[in-house]
Amino acid sequence: MKVVYHPRYQEVYDTDPAAAAGRMESILKEVSPHFELVTPEPASVDDIKLVHSEEHIAYVKREGAPYEIALLAAGGAIKAAALAMGGEPAFGLIRPPGHHASPDSCWGFCFFNNVAISIVRLMREGRIERAAILDIDLHFGDGTDNTFRNVPEVIYCHPEGVSNEHFVNSVSAFLRDAKADVIAVSAGFDRHERDWGGLLKTEDYRTIGKMVKEFAQRVCQGRRFGVLEGGYNHDVLGMNVKALLDGMS
Ligand SMILES: [Zn+2]
Repeated sequence: MKVVYHPRYQEVYDTDPAAAAGRMESILKEVSPHFELVTPEPASVDDIKLVHSEEHIAYVKREGAPYEIALLAAGGAIKAAALAMGGEPAFGLIRPPGHHASPDSCWGFCFFNNVAISIVRLMREGRIERAAILDIDLHFGDGTDNTFRNVPEVIYCHPEGVSNEHFVNSVSAFLRDAKADVIAVSAGFDRHERDWGGLLKTEDYRTIGKMVKEFAQRVCQGRRFGVLEGGYNHDVLGMNVKALLDGMS
């Protein structure tokens, strides 16, 4: 398991909780002693255009500070996907997040859809035909759903559950029948019992990570990667990311 990370992800590019000071540091502290860090390149504008309109790109550019970091975040997802395709599971420890970014619009602390860009790029390169995206963030990834609504080769799943057990079972049900050449996890941690969603235990992230690993080994030659989406309680975020990575490793 490699962790894709760039020091510029620590920059406070906005006033939202995803961009808060100390957030990336709280994760880095837990994962950097255990996993090798890999540095990404920024995505090119052509990469961003795989998913987003020129109007949307121009809009983000006008936002100023987030633009450059958003290119670097998309580049981080592309790097994680490339590592996964090469047989090395990977996690993009990136921000800003991406799953609320649609082709023509964005909200919810997102600018460009990191995971969608990485998947479309693999498809355009002819390296995969199908992909599965498992989004465990508290919030529905409307941007990812909008991107792939008319693309039957990419299945997007945002499981729900009234209890942590029910949620894990929903993940399991999705993975039982999914077909893919690679699996990507839109890894938000805001459903944790000490975060906004108040549902999942740290151990559940380890369980989900293991299920993703088993799925990948059974279905798609082990190809698996994740990218960071939400997660806002800096006291528990690091250990939750570590638990998911331990499971996926
Ligand atoms: Zn969220």
